[in-house]
Amino acid sequence: MERNKRMAAWDEAARFHGHRCPGLAIGVRIALDYKERIGLRERTEDEEIVALVETDSCSVDGIQSILGCTAGKGNLRICCRGKHVFTFFQRSSGESLRYSWKSFGSGEQSREGKADYFLNGPKDALYNVEPARCSLPSKAAIYVSVPCALCGEPTAEPQLRVREGQLVCRECAGEVVHCG
Ligand SMILES: [Zn+2]
Ligand SMILES: [Zn+2]
Repeated sequence: MERNKRMAAWDEAARFHGHRCPGLAIGVRIALDYKERIGLRERTEDEEIVALVETDSCSVDGIQSILGCTAGKGNLRICCRGKHVFTFFQRSSGESLRYSWKSFGSGEQSREGKADYFLNGPKDALYNVEPARCSLPSKAAIYVSVPCALCGEPTAEPQLRVREGQLVCRECAGEVVHCG
């Protein structure tokens, strides 16, 4: 891909993300490589591509901005293992690829210098691409919501608990619910 096209995608991702940083550059570089490899012209509208990411860093926004895999559509799964590893699945062909980032640059480089290197540096020094090591996550499930018997808030069925014969939400069931 020509440098100017890559930089246009970078500008768009930076608008979405809010700032320019080396982490975002990682996600942008990988998303652009994948997009080119599978011949994808536009961002995905639906769930045809599923991304499974093993980090919750800034890089994830590069994937969302460029590929259209988003948390809300259910085709972005964040399974945080502290690695810059991104696996993409294509529903139509069943093909899947795993990208692993391997270069984080030297500490002496500026943020801008690092981001530029991640966007434009030699592919082989920056990341590996191989077949996926895991299988395709199932399609985003849509569940019926049922009001909690205690607080009345509509709650998706699988998240309800039975307490004294009543269906209640996890908070009302006394489970400690952590966000994130
Ligand atoms: Zn960032
Ligand atoms: Zn409740």
